[in-house]
Amino acid sequence: MKVPFSYLDRQFADIDAYFDDIRAVVAKGDFTLGAAVDAFERRFARHVGLPHMVGVGSGTDALILPMKLLGIGPGDEVITAANTFIATVGAIVATGARPVFVDNEDGFVIDPDKIEAAITARTKAILPVHYTGNVADMPAIAALAERHGLVVIEDACQAIGATLDGQAVGSWARCAAFSVHPLKNVNVWGDGGLVGTTDGALADRLRLYRNHGLADRDHVTVFGVNSRLDTLQAAVGNRLLREAPDITARRIAIAQRYDDAFARLGPAVRIPVRRPGVTHVFHLYIVRAERRDDLKAHLEGHGIEAKIHYPIPVHLQDAARELGYARGAFPVAESDAASIITLPAHQHLTNDEVGYVIDHVKSFYS
Ligand SMILES: *Cc1c(COP(=O)(O)O)cnc(C)c1O
Repeated sequence: MKVPFSYLDRQFADIDAYFDDIRAVVAKGDFTLGAAVDAFERRFARHVGLPHMVGVGSGTDALILPMKLLGIGPGDEVITAANTFIATVGAIVATGARPVFVDNEDGFVIDPDKIEAAITARTKAILPVHYTGNVADMPAIAALAERHGLVVIEDACQAIGATLDGQAVGSWARCAAFSVHPLKNVNVWGDGGLVGTTDGALADRLRLYRNHGLADRDHVTVFGVNSRLDTLQAAVGNRLLREAPDITARRIAIAQRYDDAFARLGPAVRIPVRRPGVTHVFHLYIVRAERRDDLKAHLEGHGIEAKIHYPIPVHLQDAARELGYARGAFPVAESDAASIITLPAHQHLTNDEVGYVIDHVKSFYS
């Protein structure tokens, strides 16, 4: 049996319906913004539970654009998690600000108890990442930000549909960034991102800024950029979004089955933890495993593709050298980098395939 990590060749079986939708866009010549983007923004907003949604070119732009509009730039510091996908940090650097890292807690999200020590006179914002689809401790982070007068922006690129106490990610902050990149839980056929917010005025400014600042064809209110959500991708997204609740439910069910099986293995495999009240959407199902590299080789020997997200923490990457962090700066993130392994947990796995993964994790430790 082969259990692939990527499922893109199993998805979009109903491809003709997607092409019909794309054909309809082409027939109208409605290639920039337009009805498909409007509809996708509306539906995506409803799906995640936020009132305003602005489509942009990528999840990375969904971080950069609001940071710029909220005045984050050169001379500022932005606090974020030491373990994240590199795009979070690249987005901070792209604004001209300096990324400042804070170690993570057990659930692979920023440790709220360690944030205060990282705040300086230059700190302008906190950028928590809902890494793996788990939700950071937003009530604590929002309270801290309020006390210090800081902006909060949530990186929810991996957390479409995640909630805390029934509340959508993005509702504790000025806004949240979502990605619909092909490898995210709700994925289109190329790049795309959305900024979700409860702040209607910020949404209006983002709509202008993403489209050259054009209020209409003849009037430019502010100087902007070109970072529109592609209309053909929005057409794909509109059809796919109907499946989003099922995608999330299936990922949660698979994660639960893994949790139940691995909890019986004792300390060899530590299942992903989350705070009470969190609906974790399992973009990544990551465990901490003893003899991780040997386990990975064992799984691969049985046709199971596992990944490591990521073997080198951001602060130890070459790109981060000038930030001046040394090994030992973030003990949790660094020790995790040596023990984490991501198992396939996507919605296209069959029950047999999930069972096969479980059997081979067990066979390795027995
Ligand atoms: C994917 C991702 C991004 C960037 O999204 P893109 O659409 O690829 O630009 C940012 N942050 C995190 C945590 C991500 O996983």
